[in-house]
Amino acid sequence: MTRFQGKTVLVTGGAKGIGAATAKRFASEGATVFIADFDETAAQETAEAIGGHAVRCDVTDREDVEAAVEAAVSHGGSLDVLVTCAGIIRDNMLFKMSDEDWDGVIDTHLKGTFFAARAAQKHMVEQKSGKMVLISSTSALGNRGQVNYSTAKAGLQGLTKTLAIELGPFNVNVNCVAPGFIATAMTQQTAERMGVSFEQFAAAVSEQVPLKRVGQPEDVAGTIAYLCSDDASYVSGQVIYVAGGPRA
Ligand code: NDP
Repeated sequence: MTRFQGKTVLVTGGAKGIGAATAKRFASEGATVFIADFDETAAQETAEAIGGHAVRCDVTDREDVEAAVEAAVSHGGSLDVLVTCAGIIRDNMLFKMSDEDWDGVIDTHLKGTFFAARAAQKHMVEQKSGKMVLISSTSALGNRGQVNYSTAKAGLQGLTKTLAIELGPFNVNVNCVAPGFIATAMTQQTAERMGVSFEQFAAAVSEQVPLKRVGQPEDVAGTIAYLCSDDASYVSGQVIYVAGGPRA
């Protein structure tokens, strides 16, 4: 398939996990892909593997984010797709949550996505076309031990809907994908914190999921690609749960 031939795509947090699978999916369908990630070495490796480009970028730094968008635009002449996957978890119960862990998670997810969306819209509005996909989570519905993360992920759903309203008149679609449990470094980190092996953790989660398995990064990447394709040209402001069932 070459649905994204001639399109320039920027994926934040694209070095690993869901972002890397998304970058790979777009590249395999003809796009020029820019991976903007904290982890420069991993970003380079992922970019090389898919024939894309890597930009070192901390999404909590406005200048870094604006430079990443400019790098993509100056190479491809446009920015057609923005996917904001950069994310961290710093889980703890409310009574033990530090200011640093609150700020770190809120800044990475919410401010980082705000910076990226604001920098990207400038070009998409001028072009009168563009697609944005923001990454939320089933944790937006509430999750014990994730007061910071669930707040950020719920906020991203509100951000999606407002961006869809503001940018729709410029032919820019903005949607949100909210994954459930996906097998990545992030969920491995959760298993470690809980003191169980990843396999045990994934097996226990699978029992609770109607489709009886955990998700893979490719499950999310496919949904993101659909939302950025012509097939979804009249879909905007929506939150799609990719969770093997209706809830976490
Ligand atoms: P990974 O940890 O595998 O990948 C996240 C990537 O984002 C890493 O490369 C990470 O770099 C990078 N990153 C972190 N902070 C920054 C930053 N400040 N600036 C730039 N890049 C950064 O996680 P996932 O692929 O699992 O998660 C991707 C997104 O999906 C996140 O938003 C996450 O919240 C969301 N999500 C994940 C779910 C899951 O079950 N895995 C479920 C629901 C949502 P580094 O490794 O160096 O920190």
